[in-house]
Amino acid sequence: MSIQFIDLQAQRRRIGEPMTRAILDAVEGGAWVMGPQVREFEADMAAFGQADYALGCANGTDALALPLMVWGIGPGDAIFCPSFTFAATGEVAPWFGAENVFVDIDPVTYNMDPAHLEASIQAVIAEGRLTPRVVIAVDLFGQPADYPKIREICDRYGLKLIADTAQGFGCTLDGKHPVHWADIATTSFFPAKPLGCYGDGGAVLTNDAALAELIDSVRVHGKAVASDLQGRSFDHDPKYLNMRVGMNSRLDTIQAAVLIEKLKVFADEIDARNRIAARYNDLLKDHVAAVPGVIDGGVSVWAQYTIEHPQRDRLAAHLKAQGVPSAVYYPIPMHQQPAYALHSVGPQGLAVTEAKSKVVISLPMHADLDEATQDQIVAAVRSFA
Ligand SMILES: *Cc1c(COP(=O)(O)O)cnc(C)c1O
Repeated sequence: MSIQFIDLQAQRRRIGEPMTRAILDAVEGGAWVMGPQVREFEADMAAFGQADYALGCANGTDALALPLMVWGIGPGDAIFCPSFTFAATGEVAPWFGAENVFVDIDPVTYNMDPAHLEASIQAVIAEGRLTPRVVIAVDLFGQPADYPKIREICDRYGLKLIADTAQGFGCTLDGKHPVHWADIATTSFFPAKPLGCYGDGGAVLTNDAALAELIDSVRVHGKAVASDLQGRSFDHDPKYLNMRVGMNSRLDTIQAAVLIEKLKVFADEIDARNRIAARYNDLLKDHVAAVPGVIDGGVSVWAQYTIEHPQRDRLAAHLKAQGVPSAVYYPIPMHQQPAYALHSVGPQGLAVTEAKSKVVISLPMHADLDEATQDQIVAAVRSFA
């Protein structure tokens, strides 16, 4: 059998019959949008992620847009985020007419560099053109950003903090999930993410009751929620009383049913991914320029296992010839993409981001990767002179 980069069919076989039954139950139940499985999954998700509230939505990109909509982000506002990330992170600011200020990364963890974040905020204030509003930290490749430091900076400058945990849902820092520090954590259930469904899906988690209620409103076209109805009577379905401009971003019932089953095995899968990553580290550390480093006190969910090699593209071709798939996340950082040419970067530019984009390469990683297959992958990497 050929080696898979992420073997989702192996997981499907492992979960087996309960998954098939859960999907059929959702179909036969007939409540295909916002059915009871959505509420059940939201409760499971909140418990897993140590949050007071979890709300499903259509995908991980909408999950980022929902809080920006609630906070009234618009023209003249600055959103600080890494450039070394998937495009969705920086895509939402321009939806609202706001501007990204791209921040450099730490050379070991690839996550937002807090010192450069602060320098970038100060530069925006000094320039006076934009108003700093929001920081989006990313848990790149599955490990938590430096939340204690980033939160402290956000508090000092009065900024909101979004944790984009699309790759890192389930990761912890000193035993705490990102929402412990962030105003809101967002995630994606795209199939290839560590916690994925069988299509598109996403969620937000927060400990802020008022924010959770407003997100529940904007994900359904700005429908009236309990706080809107206080002291007024409306004798119809509150979804036909539109209090604010919203959007349509809901998690399908079938996807919620899939996710209920997947969440049951997720903790074990995180353990498996950590065992696999540790074994990769042992077997590869003397053969490549760098194996991944995790922040002190952090537990990664290993969305990707990413090494560095100065001959990255030749290594990729060599692996391909040996039947080993690999991927480059990300060959072009956001600030160098044509679509984001008009957005800003922090002071002195993004030297670490630009250097890393030339040397990183990710190897197959998933919870069902067995040792024999991993040995084949390791041998292929080692055989590259
Ligand atoms: C995948 C991803 C998203 C977007 O998720 P979708 O569900 O595909 O919209 C956002 N941020 C990061 C860092 C991602 O990796």
